[in-house]
Amino acid sequence: MRIILFGPPGVGKGTQAQRLAEKFNLVRLSTGDLLREEISLSSPVGRKVEQFLRKGHLVPDDIMLDIIENILLENKERDILFDGFPRNLNQAHSLERSLAQMQQEIDIAFEMHLDEDEIVKRLVNRRYCPRCERIYNLSTNPPKNDCVCDQDGAKLVTRDDDTAEVIKKRLKIYEDETRPLVSYYKSLNIYKQIDARGNQDEISDRISEIVNAYLNSKCTSN
Ligand code: ADP
Repeated sequence: MRIILFGPPGVGKGTQAQRLAEKFNLVRLSTGDLLREEISLSSPVGRKVEQFLRKGHLVPDDIMLDIIENILLENKERDILFDGFPRNLNQAHSLERSLAQMQQEIDIAFEMHLDEDEIVKRLVNRRYCPRCERIYNLSTNPPKNDCVCDQDGAKLVTRDDDTAEVIKKRLKIYEDETRPLVSYYKSLNIYKQIDARGNQDEISDRISEIVNAYLNSKCTSN
């Protein structure tokens, strides 16, 4: 199974991706986390992409496609959840070509939807564990102890790109570059919109229900 999860920054995509991957035993491929890891290691790729992330711009497609290609090859036999990829039509077409070479295709493309005011509110309160990548929200999902991760005690940080100015830019880039994926995946009949209001359990249930229905329909048609 290959699932895509996309949506504007701050919609809660990372949290839902972690849950979905765990529940259905999927390899979670988060391009944002991968890029942040390269940056923290100061690798050649990390040095190349650092400025793009800091400014809220998309990383050039050729760099992204190289990264994805390698991961697809490493995980040929596994079910995959794409979190944050593709982010434009060019990446979507390339992903399809790469999967087709392995006789694979995308099963479901989820878009998480939320009003812009709510998105900005969530992003401003977002904190992130640099060690285990767990995501918190100071108002809706705070850590037990002030500013440290419940799981490993690491000091929580604010992402460099979660500032008001960069958030606005990322939202605009989402509208211009990523939103066209909606009509594209609708045309392939694999598009599902998820209402991203409510608490995390409610949102997970909405997503899981669709995945379960899809799996059942596959069982009965085989
Ligand atoms: P968010 O969805 O909140 O923007 P992510 O962690 O998914 O957060 O991505 C953070 C940043 O990483 C993006 O703003 C962009 O600079 C870069 N990035 C992640 N995935 C891609 C991609 N598929 N193509 C280009 N840039 C990407």
